[in-house]
Amino acid sequence: MEKKVRIGFYALTSCYGCQLQLAMMDELLQLLPHAEIVCWFMVERDSYEDEPVDIAFIEGSVSTEEEIELVKKIRENAKIVVAVGSCAVHGGVQSWEKDKSLEELWKTVYGDGKVKFEPKMAEPVENYIKVDYRIYGCPPEKKDFLYAIGTFLVGSWPEDIDYPVCVECRLKGHPCILIEKGEPCLGPITRAGCDARCPGFGVACIGCRGAIGYDVAWFDSLAKTFKEKGLTKEEILERMKMFNAHNPKLEEMVEKIFQGVEE
Ligand code: SF4
Ligand code: SF4
Ligand code: SF4
Repeated sequence: MEKKVRIGFYALTSCYGCQLQLAMMDELLQLLPHAEIVCWFMVERDSYEDEPVDIAFIEGSVSTEEEIELVKKIRENAKIVVAVGSCAVHGGVQSWEKDKSLEELWKTVYGDGKVKFEPKMAEPVENYIKVDYRIYGCPPEKKDFLYAIGTFLVGSWPEDIDYPVCVECRLKGHPCILIEKGEPCLGPITRAGCDARCPGFGVACIGCRGAIGYDVAWFDSLAKTFKEKGLTKEEILERMKMFNAHNPKLEEMVEKIFQGVEE
């Protein structure tokens, strides 16, 4: 009999949107002859967090001291660890103000509210354990899950997308929000894969899939256009931080945007 691949879905601090996306995929039923879902609290209360798995999918950012221990335990028990969604990959929107103190943020949001767990600043999973693969987005696209799971199941390794949202936007023939409306669309520097969903609805991309690799031409093109539209470095940085606050090259990238562009 075929040996089933053991899969676990784990959640840290999150909105559960990535798991919901997965749970709504009928295609997952086709997996069942080949895979055993060992842990998934959202759909199965009797899940086992301590069981060994072949593939661990982790959603959410590490936002409590307890979650640091949890991700380490998941890593010990898993052959492949996949960070799922912007929270797990980049720290999520909850990292937006990461340069402020936890106390200040806590007071702003919860006042004098107390909790039983020990909160900490939200961080990507990769800050604590080795991550083998990332599924981007907030939430990721269904096809991202299918591609990753399908590829792992045939014993191979999924590729990362290395071109920006603009490529998909142009292929779809959407009007360019940046050029025509002057809005700060982050499509030129954001990893593609969503079929330019937001520009398709007339809304500027806010970069939920994270920045593509540094040092590509699209940064310079964006620089020129952002400057022409009157954006300052600070405004660009603030916008990019929404989903990229933990990107160690963020400031460097934004600096680069302004290099070589005439005043
Ligand atoms: S990445 Fe987005 S959809 Fe997924 S858990 Fe975080 S906030 Fe929710
Ligand atoms: S800047 Fe935005 S709207 Fe313009 S092509 Fe790129 S993704 Fe589309
Ligand atoms: S267009 Fe930008 S913000 Fe919208 S889904 Fe795609 S990557 Fe995310």
